[in-house]
Amino acid sequence: MGTAAVAKIRLTVDADAESALDGQSRICNWLYNELLEVAGVLRARYRVDQDAATGKVLYTERGLRDLLPEMKRLHPFLNTVHSSPLKNAALRASDSIRRHQAAKHGRRKGGSVGWPRFRSWKANWFSLLFDEPGKGFRLDGNQLTLSLGKGLEGKRRSVTVHAPDAAKVLADKRVKNLRIVKQHGVFYAVFGIERAVPEAKPIHRAIALDPNHKNLAVGVDTEGNTVEIEDPWWLKRLDRRVDALKARRDRCHKKSVRVPITDKDGQPTGRYYWRPSKRWRRFNAAYQRAMTKRREQTKTFLATVAQRLCRHYDLVGIGDYTPQGGGCTSGMRRAMTNQSVIARFKEALSWTALKSGKVYAEFAEYGTTRTCANCGHVVTGGLDPDVRAWTCPACGQSHGRDENAARNGLQRLLRERREKGGATPPVPGSGPVPIRGRWTWRVRPSGIQSRGGRTGDAILER
Ligand SMILES: [Zn+2]
Repeated sequence: MGTAAVAKIRLTVDADAESALDGQSRICNWLYNELLEVAGVLRARYRVDQDAATGKVLYTERGLRDLLPEMKRLHPFLNTVHSSPLKNAALRASDSIRRHQAAKHGRRKGGSVGWPRFRSWKANWFSLLFDEPGKGFRLDGNQLTLSLGKGLEGKRRSVTVHAPDAAKVLADKRVKNLRIVKQHGVFYAVFGIERAVPEAKPIHRAIALDPNHKNLAVGVDTEGNTVEIEDPWWLKRLDRRVDALKARRDRCHKKSVRVPITDKDGQPTGRYYWRPSKRWRRFNAAYQRAMTKRREQTKTFLATVAQRLCRHYDLVGIGDYTPQGGGCTSGMRRAMTNQSVIARFKEALSWTALKSGKVYAEFAEYGTTRTCANCGHVVTGGLDPDVRAWTCPACGQSHGRDENAARNGLQRLLRERREKGGATPPVPGSGPVPIRGRWTWRVRPSGIQSRGGRTGDAILER
Protein backbone atom coordinates (compact mmCIF):
# COMPACT_ATOMS: atom_id res chain seq x y z
CA MET A 1 0.00 0.00 0.00
CA GLY A 2 1.42 3.38 -0.97
CA THR A 3 1.72 6.39 1.24
CA ALA A 4 -1.76 7.54 2.09
CA ALA A 5 -1.10 11.12 3.02
CA VAL A 6 1.62 13.65 3.47
CA ALA A 7 2.09 16.34 6.10
CA LYS A 8 4.17 19.27 4.97
CA ILE A 9 5.63 21.37 7.74
CA ARG A 10 7.53 24.60 7.30
CA LEU A 11 10.78 24.36 9.25
CA THR A 12 12.53 26.99 11.32
CA VAL A 13 16.17 26.66 10.38
CA ASP A 14 19.06 28.74 11.73
CA ALA A 15 22.05 29.80 9.63
CA ASP A 16 24.26 26.89 10.77
CA ALA A 17 21.59 24.30 10.05
CA GLU A 18 20.85 25.93 6.70
CA SER A 19 24.47 25.67 5.58
CA ALA A 20 24.64 22.07 6.86
CA LEU A 21 21.51 21.09 4.90
CA ASP A 22 22.64 22.99 1.81
CA GLY A 23 25.91 21.05 2.00
CA GLN A 24 24.06 17.73 2.16
CA SER A 25 21.92 18.65 -0.80
CA ARG A 26 24.91 19.85 -2.80
CA ILE A 27 26.75 16.56 -2.23
CA CYS A 28 23.69 14.52 -3.28
CA ASN A 29 23.47 16.68 -6.40
CA TRP A 30 27.17 16.11 -7.05
CA LEU A 31 26.71 12.35 -6.64
CA TYR A 32 23.76 12.36 -9.05
CA ASN A 33 25.82 14.16 -11.70
CA GLU A 34 28.87 12.00 -11.08
CA LEU A 35 26.82 8.82 -11.51
CA LEU A 36 25.36 10.17 -14.75
CA GLU A 37 28.87 10.83 -15.96
CA VAL A 38 29.91 7.26 -15.08
CA ALA A 39 26.76 6.00 -16.78
CA GLY A 40 27.65 7.98 -19.91
CA VAL A 41 31.00 6.20 -20.10
CA LEU A 42 29.39 2.80 -19.49
CA ARG A 43 26.79 3.53 -22.15
CA ALA A 44 29.45 4.20 -24.77
CA ARG A 45 31.18 0.97 -23.81
CA TYR A 46 27.95 -1.00 -23.75
CA ARG A 47 27.13 0.08 -27.30
CA VAL A 48 30.33 -1.61 -28.41
CA ASP A 49 30.50 -4.80 -26.37
CA GLN A 50 26.89 -5.34 -25.10
CA ASP A 51 28.43 -6.73 -21.92
CA ALA A 52 25.71 -8.04 -19.60
CA ALA A 53 27.36 -6.80 -16.39
CA THR A 54 27.63 -3.26 -17.81
CA GLY A 55 24.02 -3.38 -18.93
CA LYS A 56 22.98 -4.38 -15.43
CA VAL A 57 24.71 -1.37 -13.86
CA LEU A 58 23.25 0.96 -16.46
CA TYR A 59 19.68 -0.20 -16.82
CA THR A 60 18.49 -1.87 -13.63
CA GLU A 61 16.69 -0.11 -10.80
CA ARG A 62 19.56 -0.53 -8.32
CA GLY A 63 22.44 -0.64 -10.81
CA LEU A 64 23.96 2.73 -9.91
CA ARG A 65 23.15 2.36 -6.23
CA ASP A 66 25.39 -0.70 -6.12
CA LEU A 67 28.31 1.51 -7.11
CA LEU A 68 27.99 3.49 -3.87
CA PRO A 69 30.49 1.58 -1.69
CA GLU A 70 33.15 2.05 -4.34
CA MET A 71 32.21 5.72 -4.81
CA LYS A 72 32.50 6.26 -1.05
CA ARG A 73 35.96 4.71 -1.06
CA LEU A 74 37.08 6.96 -3.90
CA HIS A 75 35.38 10.08 -2.50
CA PRO A 76 35.43 9.93 1.32
CA PHE A 77 33.45 13.20 1.64
CA LEU A 78 30.36 11.22 0.58
CA ASN A 79 30.40 9.72 4.09
CA THR A 80 29.38 13.11 5.47
CA VAL A 81 25.87 12.47 4.15
CA HIS A 82 23.54 9.90 5.67
CA SER A 83 23.24 6.76 3.55
CA SER A 84 19.49 7.23 2.84
CA PRO A 85 19.66 10.49 0.84
CA LEU A 86 22.79 9.20 -0.94
CA LYS A 87 21.09 5.97 -1.87
CA ASN A 88 18.07 7.89 -3.15
CA ALA A 89 20.23 10.19 -5.27
CA ALA A 90 21.61 7.06 -6.96
CA LEU A 91 18.12 5.58 -7.37
CA ARG A 92 16.96 8.86 -8.94
CA ALA A 93 19.82 8.78 -11.44
CA SER A 94 18.91 5.18 -12.39
CA ASP A 95 15.26 6.15 -12.61
CA SER A 96 15.95 8.98 -15.09
CA ILE A 97 17.98 6.61 -17.26
CA ARG A 98 15.27 3.98 -17.12
CA ARG A 99 12.61 6.52 -18.11
CA HIS A 100 14.75 7.51 -21.06
CA GLN A 101 15.11 3.84 -22.03
CA ALA A 102 11.41 3.11 -21.63
CA ALA A 103 10.52 6.09 -23.85
CA LYS A 104 13.05 5.03 -26.44
CA HIS A 105 11.54 1.58 -26.61
CA GLY A 106 8.00 2.90 -26.67
CA ARG A 107 7.03 1.51 -23.28
CA ARG A 108 5.96 4.85 -22.01
CA LYS A 109 3.33 7.33 -23.14
CA GLY A 110 4.07 10.98 -23.75
CA GLY A 111 6.82 10.97 -26.36
CA SER A 112 10.54 10.83 -26.09
CA VAL A 113 12.54 11.53 -22.95
CA GLY A 114 16.15 12.53 -23.59
CA TRP A 115 19.19 11.04 -21.92
CA PRO A 116 19.13 12.63 -18.45
CA ARG A 117 20.87 15.97 -18.11
CA PHE A 118 23.17 17.06 -15.33
CA ARG A 119 21.33 18.83 -12.54
CA SER A 120 22.20 22.34 -11.51
CA TRP A 121 22.13 22.65 -7.74
CA LYS A 122 21.82 26.42 -8.00
CA ALA A 123 18.65 26.13 -10.05
CA ASN A 124 17.11 23.26 -8.07
CA TRP A 125 17.83 22.30 -4.50
CA PHE A 126 18.31 18.52 -4.45
CA SER A 127 15.80 17.14 -1.94
CA LEU A 128 16.95 14.81 0.84
CA LEU A 129 14.86 11.66 1.06
CA PHE A 130 14.94 9.47 4.14
CA ASP A 131 12.84 6.55 2.96
CA GLU A 132 12.83 4.32 6.02
CA PRO A 133 11.09 5.14 9.29
CA GLY A 134 13.51 6.24 11.98
CA LYS A 135 16.60 5.88 9.77
CA GLY A 136 18.51 9.14 9.61
CA PHE A 137 15.83 11.24 11.28
CA ARG A 138 14.21 11.48 14.69
CA LEU A 139 11.37 13.57 16.01
CA ASP A 140 11.26 14.64 19.68
CA GLY A 141 8.19 16.79 20.14
CA ASN A 142 8.69 19.58 17.64
CA GLN A 143 12.44 19.06 17.34
CA LEU A 144 13.51 17.26 14.20
CA THR A 145 17.01 15.77 14.25
CA LEU A 146 18.62 14.76 10.98
CA SER A 147 21.72 12.62 10.75
CA LEU A 148 24.52 14.05 8.62
CA GLY A 149 26.48 10.83 8.33
CA LYS A 150 30.02 10.69 9.63
CA GLY A 151 32.42 13.60 9.73
CA LEU A 152 35.78 13.11 8.06
CA GLU A 153 37.15 12.33 11.53
CA GLY A 154 34.71 9.40 11.72
CA LYS A 155 32.24 10.79 14.28
CA ARG A 156 28.51 10.76 13.66
CA ARG A 157 27.08 14.23 13.24
CA SER A 158 23.55 15.59 13.25
CA VAL A 159 21.58 18.80 12.93
CA THR A 160 18.42 19.75 14.79
CA VAL A 161 15.72 22.02 13.39
CA HIS A 162 12.40 23.23 14.72
CA ALA A 163 9.25 21.75 13.14
CA PRO A 164 6.31 23.76 14.54
CA ASP A 165 3.20 21.66 15.31
CA ALA A 166 4.92 18.40 14.27
CA ALA A 167 4.04 16.71 17.56
CA LYS A 168 0.39 17.69 17.24
CA VAL A 169 0.07 16.96 13.52
CA LEU A 170 1.83 13.59 13.70
CA ALA A 171 0.36 12.39 17.00
CA ASP A 172 -0.59 8.68 16.74
CA LYS A 173 0.34 8.62 13.03
CA ARG A 174 2.92 6.25 11.62
CA VAL A 175 5.55 8.15 9.68
CA LYS A 176 6.88 6.13 6.75
CA ASN A 177 9.40 8.50 5.26
CA LEU A 178 10.63 12.07 5.26
CA ARG A 179 11.69 14.37 2.48
CA ILE A 180 13.48 17.63 3.19
CA VAL A 181 12.91 20.22 0.48
CA LYS A 182 13.88 23.86 0.04
CA GLN A 183 11.52 25.96 -2.03
CA HIS A 184 12.19 29.63 -2.69
CA GLY A 185 14.61 29.72 0.21
CA VAL A 186 12.25 28.06 2.71
CA PHE A 187 12.81 24.60 4.18
CA TYR A 188 9.97 22.11 4.55
CA ALA A 189 9.74 18.63 6.05
CA VAL A 190 7.36 16.45 4.03
CA PHE A 191 6.35 13.44 6.13
CA GLY A 192 4.80 10.45 4.35
CA ILE A 193 2.18 8.88 6.59
CA GLU A 194 0.83 5.38 6.54
CA ARG A 195 -2.86 4.89 6.16
CA ALA A 196 -4.48 3.73 9.37
CA VAL A 197 -6.74 0.68 9.21
CA PRO A 198 -10.00 2.21 8.00
CA GLU A 199 -12.80 2.20 10.50
CA ALA A 200 -16.09 0.95 9.14
CA LYS A 201 -17.91 4.21 9.66
CA PRO A 202 -21.26 4.62 7.97
CA ILE A 203 -21.23 6.98 5.03
CA HIS A 204 -24.18 9.34 4.80
CA ARG A 205 -23.08 12.03 2.38
CA ALA A 206 -20.66 11.93 -0.51
CA ILE A 207 -19.40 14.49 -3.03
CA ALA A 208 -17.51 14.02 -6.30
CA LEU A 209 -15.26 16.85 -7.47
CA ASP A 210 -14.24 17.67 -11.01
CA PRO A 211 -11.06 19.79 -10.96
CA ASN A 212 -11.04 22.66 -13.43
CA HIS A 213 -9.21 25.55 -14.94
CA LYS A 214 -12.13 28.00 -14.67
CA ASN A 215 -12.47 27.36 -10.94
CA LEU A 216 -10.81 25.07 -8.41
CA ALA A 217 -13.42 22.35 -8.83
CA VAL A 218 -17.12 21.70 -9.32
CA GLY A 219 -18.69 19.09 -7.07
CA VAL A 220 -21.98 17.23 -7.10
CA ASP A 221 -23.17 15.54 -3.91
CA THR A 222 -25.53 12.67 -3.17
CA GLU A 223 -28.26 15.13 -2.08
CA GLY A 224 -28.36 16.79 -5.47
CA ASN A 225 -26.32 19.91 -4.78
CA THR A 226 -23.86 21.37 -7.22
CA VAL A 227 -21.02 23.29 -5.58
CA GLU A 228 -18.70 25.48 -7.57
CA ILE A 229 -15.54 26.31 -5.64
CA GLU A 230 -14.24 29.60 -7.04
CA ASP A 231 -10.61 30.48 -7.47
CA PRO A 232 -9.95 33.20 -4.91
CA TRP A 233 -9.49 36.74 -6.23
CA TRP A 234 -6.84 37.48 -3.60
CA LEU A 235 -4.69 34.71 -4.97
CA LYS A 236 -5.11 36.05 -8.49
CA ARG A 237 -3.92 39.47 -7.32
CA LEU A 238 -0.82 37.86 -5.87
CA ASP A 239 -0.31 35.98 -9.15
CA ARG A 240 -0.14 39.29 -10.98
CA ARG A 241 2.43 40.60 -8.51
CA VAL A 242 4.55 37.45 -8.91
CA ASP A 243 4.42 37.83 -12.69
CA ALA A 244 5.35 41.50 -12.54
CA LEU A 245 8.33 40.84 -10.27
CA LYS A 246 9.56 38.04 -12.46
CA ALA A 247 9.26 40.22 -15.56
CA ARG A 248 11.24 43.02 -13.89
CA ARG A 249 13.90 40.55 -12.81
CA ASP A 250 14.20 39.07 -16.27
CA ARG A 251 14.55 42.50 -17.87
CA CYS A 252 17.74 43.06 -15.85
CA HIS A 253 21.03 42.01 -17.25
CA LYS A 254 21.64 38.77 -15.39
CA LYS A 255 25.19 37.86 -16.26
CA SER A 256 27.58 40.35 -14.76
CA VAL A 257 30.75 38.83 -13.32
CA ARG A 258 32.59 35.83 -14.73
CA VAL A 259 33.76 33.69 -11.80
CA PRO A 260 36.23 30.83 -12.26
CA ILE A 261 35.19 27.44 -10.88
CA THR A 262 37.77 25.70 -8.73
CA ASP A 263 37.92 22.05 -7.77
CA LYS A 264 37.94 20.63 -4.24
CA ASP A 265 41.58 21.63 -3.72
CA GLY A 266 41.06 25.20 -4.91
CA GLN A 267 42.73 24.59 -8.26
CA PRO A 268 41.25 26.28 -11.34
CA THR A 269 39.28 23.92 -13.53
CA GLY A 270 39.27 26.17 -16.58
CA ARG A 271 35.48 26.52 -16.36
CA TYR A 272 33.48 29.58 -15.35
CA TYR A 273 30.05 30.60 -14.22
CA TRP A 274 28.32 33.97 -14.37
CA ARG A 275 27.44 35.65 -11.11
CA PRO A 276 24.19 37.59 -11.42
CA SER A 277 24.15 41.38 -11.05
CA LYS A 278 23.13 43.09 -7.81
CA ARG A 279 19.95 44.44 -9.39
CA TRP A 280 18.98 41.01 -10.68
CA ARG A 281 19.56 39.49 -7.27
CA ARG A 282 17.43 42.17 -5.58
CA PHE A 283 14.47 41.54 -7.88
CA ASN A 284 15.04 37.82 -7.56
CA ALA A 285 14.84 38.04 -3.77
CA ALA A 286 11.55 39.98 -3.98
CA TYR A 287 10.23 37.43 -6.48
CA GLN A 288 11.20 34.53 -4.20
CA ARG A 289 9.45 36.22 -1.26
CA ALA A 290 6.28 36.71 -3.29
CA MET A 291 6.38 33.07 -4.42
CA THR A 292 6.70 31.92 -0.80
CA LYS A 293 3.78 34.12 0.17
CA ARG A 294 1.79 32.68 -2.71
CA ARG A 295 2.57 29.13 -1.57
CA GLU A 296 1.50 29.91 1.98
CA GLN A 297 -1.73 31.61 0.89
CA THR A 298 -2.55 28.79 -1.50
CA LYS A 299 -1.99 26.36 1.35
CA THR A 300 -4.41 28.28 3.57
CA PHE A 301 -6.98 28.40 0.78
CA LEU A 302 -6.72 24.66 0.09
CA ALA A 303 -6.83 23.76 3.80
CA THR A 304 -9.97 25.88 4.28
CA VAL A 305 -11.74 24.13 1.40
CA ALA A 306 -10.57 20.67 2.50
CA GLN A 307 -11.77 21.26 6.06
CA ARG A 308 -15.17 22.42 4.92
CA LEU A 309 -15.59 19.40 2.65
CA CYS A 310 -14.46 16.89 5.27
CA ARG A 311 -16.70 18.43 7.91
CA HIS A 312 -19.79 18.10 5.75
CA TYR A 313 -19.11 14.93 3.75
CA ASP A 314 -18.16 11.41 4.82
CA LEU A 315 -16.76 10.50 1.41
CA VAL A 316 -14.93 13.01 -0.77
CA GLY A 317 -14.00 11.86 -4.27
CA ILE A 318 -11.97 13.66 -6.89
CA GLY A 319 -11.04 12.89 -10.51
CA ASP A 320 -7.75 11.05 -10.92
CA TYR A 321 -6.54 13.01 -13.93
CA THR A 322 -3.65 15.38 -13.31
CA PRO A 323 -2.35 16.58 -16.67
CA GLN A 324 1.40 16.50 -17.14
CA GLY A 325 3.08 19.55 -18.61
CA GLY A 326 4.00 18.74 -22.17
CA GLY A 327 5.26 21.31 -24.66
CA CYS A 328 5.21 24.43 -22.55
CA THR A 329 4.40 27.73 -24.21
CA SER A 330 4.38 30.95 -22.21
CA GLY A 331 0.60 31.18 -22.45
CA MET A 332 0.32 27.82 -20.72
CA ARG A 333 2.22 28.89 -17.65
CA ARG A 334 -0.78 29.91 -15.55
CA ALA A 335 -2.58 26.70 -16.49
CA MET A 336 0.49 24.70 -15.42
CA THR A 337 0.49 26.48 -12.06
CA ASN A 338 -3.14 25.49 -11.76
CA GLN A 339 -2.24 21.84 -12.30
CA SER A 340 0.18 21.86 -9.43
CA VAL A 341 -2.53 23.53 -7.31
CA ILE A 342 -4.79 20.56 -8.09
CA ALA A 343 -2.04 18.13 -7.03
CA ARG A 344 -1.68 20.08 -3.78
CA PHE A 345 -5.45 20.17 -3.32
CA LYS A 346 -5.48 16.37 -3.47
CA GLU A 347 -2.72 16.23 -0.86
CA ALA A 348 -4.64 18.59 1.41
CA LEU A 349 -7.87 16.61 0.97
CA SER A 350 -6.29 13.21 1.63
CA TRP A 351 -4.55 14.55 4.70
CA THR A 352 -7.62 16.32 6.12
CA ALA A 353 -9.76 13.22 5.52
CA LEU A 354 -7.18 11.08 7.31
CA LYS A 355 -7.16 13.43 10.29
CA SER A 356 -10.92 13.66 10.55
CA GLY A 357 -11.74 9.97 9.96
CA LYS A 358 -13.41 10.63 6.60
CA VAL A 359 -12.81 8.78 3.33
CA TYR A 360 -10.84 10.26 0.44
CA ALA A 361 -10.99 8.52 -2.93
CA GLU A 362 -10.02 9.17 -6.53
CA PHE A 363 -12.25 8.04 -9.35
CA ALA A 364 -11.48 7.39 -13.02
CA GLU A 365 -12.16 10.70 -14.71
CA TYR A 366 -11.67 9.60 -18.29
CA GLY A 367 -14.64 10.47 -20.50
CA THR A 368 -16.74 12.15 -17.78
CA THR A 369 -17.00 15.42 -19.71
CA ARG A 370 -18.21 13.97 -23.02
CA THR A 371 -20.76 11.59 -21.49
CA CYS A 372 -24.33 12.71 -20.75
CA ALA A 373 -24.91 12.14 -17.03
CA ASN A 374 -28.61 11.61 -17.66
CA CYS A 375 -28.71 8.99 -20.44
CA GLY A 376 -25.08 7.92 -20.93
CA HIS A 377 -24.86 9.17 -24.54
CA VAL A 378 -21.24 9.81 -25.51
CA VAL A 379 -20.51 12.85 -27.69
CA THR A 380 -18.31 11.66 -30.55
CA GLY A 381 -15.00 13.50 -30.65
CA GLY A 382 -15.62 15.07 -27.23
CA LEU A 383 -16.60 18.62 -26.32
CA ASP A 384 -14.60 21.58 -27.51
CA PRO A 385 -12.84 23.24 -24.54
CA ASP A 386 -14.83 26.47 -25.10
CA VAL A 387 -18.21 24.77 -24.73
CA ARG A 388 -19.51 25.68 -21.27
CA ALA A 389 -23.08 24.42 -21.73
CA TRP A 390 -24.59 21.88 -24.09
CA THR A 391 -27.73 19.91 -24.79
CA CYS A 392 -27.63 16.14 -25.12
CA PRO A 393 -28.71 15.18 -28.64
CA ALA A 394 -30.02 11.83 -27.37
CA CYS A 395 -32.20 12.79 -24.39
CA GLY A 396 -32.47 16.57 -24.77
CA GLN A 397 -31.25 17.41 -21.25
CA SER A 398 -29.26 20.65 -20.86
CA HIS A 399 -25.92 20.41 -19.13
CA GLY A 400 -23.35 22.75 -17.66
CA ARG A 401 -20.03 21.32 -18.74
CA ASP A 402 -18.46 21.00 -15.27
CA GLU A 403 -21.65 19.99 -13.47
CA ASN A 404 -22.27 17.18 -15.96
CA ALA A 405 -18.70 15.91 -15.51
CA ALA A 406 -19.09 15.95 -11.72
CA ARG A 407 -22.45 14.11 -11.93
CA ASN A 408 -20.74 11.37 -13.92
CA GLY A 409 -17.91 11.48 -11.40
CA LEU A 410 -20.35 10.84 -8.57
CA GLN A 411 -21.76 7.76 -10.31
CA ARG A 412 -18.24 6.48 -10.97
CA LEU A 413 -17.16 7.18 -7.40
CA LEU A 414 -20.05 5.22 -5.93
CA ARG A 415 -19.72 2.38 -8.41
CA GLU A 416 -15.99 2.01 -7.78
CA ARG A 417 -16.60 2.05 -4.01
CA ARG A 418 -19.24 -0.68 -4.29
CA GLU A 419 -16.95 -2.80 -6.44
CA LYS A 420 -14.25 -2.61 -3.78
CA GLY A 421 -16.77 -3.44 -1.07
CA GLY A 422 -16.57 0.01 0.54
CA ALA A 423 -19.54 1.64 2.23
CA THR A 424 -21.58 4.06 0.11
CA PRO A 425 -24.32 6.52 1.02
CA PRO A 426 -27.92 5.43 0.62
CA VAL A 427 -28.85 6.83 -2.79
CA PRO A 428 -31.93 5.63 -4.62
CA GLY A 429 -30.92 3.26 -7.41
CA SER A 430 -27.62 3.61 -9.20
CA GLY A 431 -28.62 6.22 -11.77
CA PRO A 432 -27.86 9.93 -11.90
CA VAL A 433 -28.72 12.16 -8.96
CA PRO A 434 -31.12 14.95 -10.02
CA ILE A 435 -29.81 18.44 -9.31
CA ARG A 436 -31.85 20.31 -6.72
CA GLY A 437 -29.62 23.21 -5.78
CA ARG A 438 -26.67 25.17 -7.06
CA TRP A 439 -24.14 26.87 -4.83
CA THR A 440 -20.98 28.87 -5.20
CA TRP A 441 -18.28 28.83 -2.56
CA ARG A 442 -16.28 31.98 -2.39
CA VAL A 443 -13.27 31.40 -0.17
CA ARG A 444 -12.10 34.42 1.78
CA PRO A 445 -9.15 34.64 4.14
CA SER A 446 -11.75 34.66 6.94
CA GLY A 447 -13.68 31.60 5.77
CA ILE A 448 -16.13 30.42 3.15
CA GLN A 449 -19.13 32.36 1.92
CA SER A 450 -21.69 30.11 0.29
CA ARG A 451 -24.15 31.64 -2.15
CA GLY A 452 -26.90 30.20 -4.28
CA GLY A 453 -29.94 28.13 -3.53
CA ARG A 454 -32.30 25.40 -4.50
CA THR A 455 -33.46 25.47 -8.04
CA GLY A 456 -35.70 23.54 -10.34
CA ASP A 457 -34.62 25.57 -13.35
CA ALA A 458 -32.89 24.33 -16.42
CA ILE A 459 -29.14 24.64 -16.41
CA LEU A 460 -27.81 28.16 -15.97
CA GLU A 461 -25.42 29.50 -18.53
CA ARG A 462 -22.23 30.60 -16.94
ZN1 LIG B 1 -28.57 12.41 -22.62
